[in-house]
Amino acid sequence: MDARVGPLFPDPPRGGTPHEVLRDVYGFREFRPGQLVLIEAVLAGRDAIGVMPTGAGKSLTFQIPARLLGGTALVVSPLLSLMKDQVDGLAAKGFRVTVLNSTLGQEERRARLAALRRGEYELCYVSPEGLDGWLRDFLRGCGISFVAVDEAHCISQWGHDFRPAYRRLRELKQHFGGVPILALTATATRRVAGDIIGQLGMHKPAGFMGSFFRPNLKLHGYRKGDGREVRDEILRYAAARRGQSGIVYCLSRRGVEGLADFLRRGGVRALPYHAGLERERAAHQDAFVSGEVDVMVATIAFGMGIDKPDIRWVVHRDMPRNVEGWYQEIGRAGRDGADADCLLYYSWADVITYERFLDPETDAAINADVQRRTVEMFRLADARGCRHRALVGYFGEKIDDCGSACDGCGRPDALADLAPAPAVTRRRRRGEASGGGAAGGAGGGRGGRSALGAPPVPALAGAAAETFQRLRELRRTLAAEEGVPAYVVFNDATLRAMAELRPRNEQELLRIGGVGPAKLQRYGGAFLRLLREG
Ligand code: ADP
Ligand code: MG
Ligand code: ZN
Repeated sequence: MDARVGPLFPDPPRGGTPHEVLRDVYGFREFRPGQLVLIEAVLAGRDAIGVMPTGAGKSLTFQIPARLLGGTALVVSPLLSLMKDQVDGLAAKGFRVTVLNSTLGQEERRARLAALRRGEYELCYVSPEGLDGWLRDFLRGCGISFVAVDEAHCISQWGHDFRPAYRRLRELKQHFGGVPILALTATATRRVAGDIIGQLGMHKPAGFMGSFFRPNLKLHGYRKGDGREVRDEILRYAAARRGQSGIVYCLSRRGVEGLADFLRRGGVRALPYHAGLERERAAHQDAFVSGEVDVMVATIAFGMGIDKPDIRWVVHRDMPRNVEGWYQEIGRAGRDGADADCLLYYSWADVITYERFLDPETDAAINADVQRRTVEMFRLADARGCRHRALVGYFGEKIDDCGSACDGCGRPDALADLAPAPAVTRRRRRGEASGGGAAGGAGGGRGGRSALGAPPVPALAGAAAETFQRLRELRRTLAAEEGVPAYVVFNDATLRAMAELRPRNEQELLRIGGVGPAKLQRYGGAFLRLLREG
């Protein structure tokens, strides 16, 4: 999306303080820990690094300075899909924002570059791959105010997600005449953080290290083997949580498709997601985010940049490759602060599988390091004692035993007291494919709703639950009209608050978290009408 012109994107108020932007543009009242420190550093022209867990609110730390500073903030972000969602979300809030990527037609690209040169954008998103020599030189004449590097651990070979293209960011600071660099990451050990600062050429950066302890995540571990029926356990677990959103992570695409199919045959509203499902995966993601299906069975390709606060459980059907990955994946649950279960299945066989994935062409020292960290993950999974303490300890943080938020501290088994597995129909329904091969999207997406069963039952009572469903319908319609993901309109937490508090006018609507003036202007009328009717 490109939000340059048009009445759809009202010009928002200029200037002001970070707090005013937080309130007027986002509809939030308080900064979260670390946000203001980083924002003020950038506003003061300093480099800054934020190491904060997923969901901590890192995006605001560059979006707000982008609004307050003159010129254009350059945002480097690794994934196209991630950029698209953020850019759509920002445009809906009234930001002047664009993205430069390889999928643009020549004419559109030229138009955006020209607008960039005229200083029409507050933010410009690029992928590191897109930042070639030509574009870097062009951007030099565009009044770049600062550079935000999202997922900055990708620059380090010692991180778990090294991307060679991030090397192109090395001389950016000098290239743009010493503008501030804001590096953000959810996962950085001390070594990786040092590497980020060094490679980006940051000068005495301000820093904020968030706490990685998430007590609302209830951690459980299960060693595979010994006749454990992992699939049945997951089916029973998911079936008992109908209407709750959950993710099951599997190591392979085949594993994803087989398990998604198995769960569906057991009556669970589940869909598969992996990079190979090129056509269906966006629809599957939408169905999950909007609550049309309960369960996403996925490879680790799923989840980055997903803004869904009410994910109630995450199961790792296979062990994650390393602790960073584990932390990131479970961190997608419980972002609304309510409890969420995290079930980890692991085995030494998983370690061996990952070893087979190593590319012999890669530098031996790096492969050894990757392998070492997989073994570390296994050790952590298999250790006794508090899982939270071990997990945050890996990132250099010291805490006491959690006391009750993990099985190591005596929390009861999350799999106990479940009903026996529902009978899995072996018969194939029309249009539903078999377990192996291309089973993937069968019956999925928007067309296959009949196969997905009844709508979810949210944890709201009576009339509020009904209103919530109608608000969701409205959101779906509006989102479809604008061609954006549903949560760009409002997320579930916001709709839930509307259903409970029933605002009657614009003032009351504005008091709800997630409603700012831009969204009020754009969607407020439609939602208020619905709320007044019911
Ligand atoms: P991160 O990039 O650190 O994973 P995001 O920037 O995507 O996190 O933000 C996660 C969620 O938290 C988003 O839904 C965002 O709107 C919300 N959020 C961010 N800052 C605040 C705040 N100060 N108050 C309330 N919600 C916030
Ligand atoms: Mg982020
Ligand atoms: Zn514990």
